[in-house]
Amino acid sequence: MVKRSILKRFLALLYPERCCCCGRPIICGKLICEACRPKLKLIKPPVCSFCACMVQHCRCNKRQRHTNSCAAPFYFEGAAQSAIYRLKFKGKACAAEIFCLAMAHTVRREYADIDFDCIVPVPLSRDALRKRRYNQSAVLAKGLADLLDIPYAELLNKQQTTIPQRELPAYRRSGNVLGVFDATDGVPEGGSVLLVDDTVTTGSTLDECAKILKLYGAQAVYAVTATVSRLSNQSL
Ligand SMILES: [Zn+2]
Ligand SMILES: [Zn+2]
Repeated sequence: MVKRSILKRFLALLYPERCCCCGRPIICGKLICEACRPKLKLIKPPVCSFCACMVQHCRCNKRQRHTNSCAAPFYFEGAAQSAIYRLKFKGKACAAEIFCLAMAHTVRREYADIDFDCIVPVPLSRDALRKRRYNQSAVLAKGLADLLDIPYAELLNKQQTTIPQRELPAYRRSGNVLGVFDATDGVPEGGSVLLVDDTVTTGSTLDECAKILKLYGAQAVYAVTATVSRLSNQSL
């Protein structure tokens, strides 16, 4: 036992644990550093179930969507934005850890009464997956499935590569993802699905995925994302 703890300490010197948000070495057992903690913009209830923002920040006009509801622990700002960047573009899948824990907390709070049949990630196209090597939404969904003890299922495919939603103005985003997803066998007939993505802005991607899952038999699709972008009035 003594030998093992010495080895662990030695390894920690060689490979120090790093802050999920900024990547700086950090004290063992912590997920984020002291500098990043105050820069995490936590979403506190009451939240708008349509756009996942705090009610005082909601600009969505409660537009009805195929997703029954949407929730997220953080705004896409500050330290959470840095962690998404590391997870998505720097190949740091370990940055997902802070999000999985926070998303589990959000799901338990916002969807307390719902009995989910499975957790499903928003898919990447084959080309995008080859380039990125992993699907960041799948990493989040698997971590969340473990924490919440709900089965993980890849029930959606993305048939085509699309222009990244972040590169398009809001009014072009729903057209960009229209008809690009398909479902595999195994969508729970009459069941409830928890759909997972890294971030939500206009909600077009989640909406299109929820539409397909419902076409294939799901009765309800609830979404949870790691972060949500606050929409300005101009981008609606
Ligand atoms: Zn940090
Ligand atoms: Zn709203």
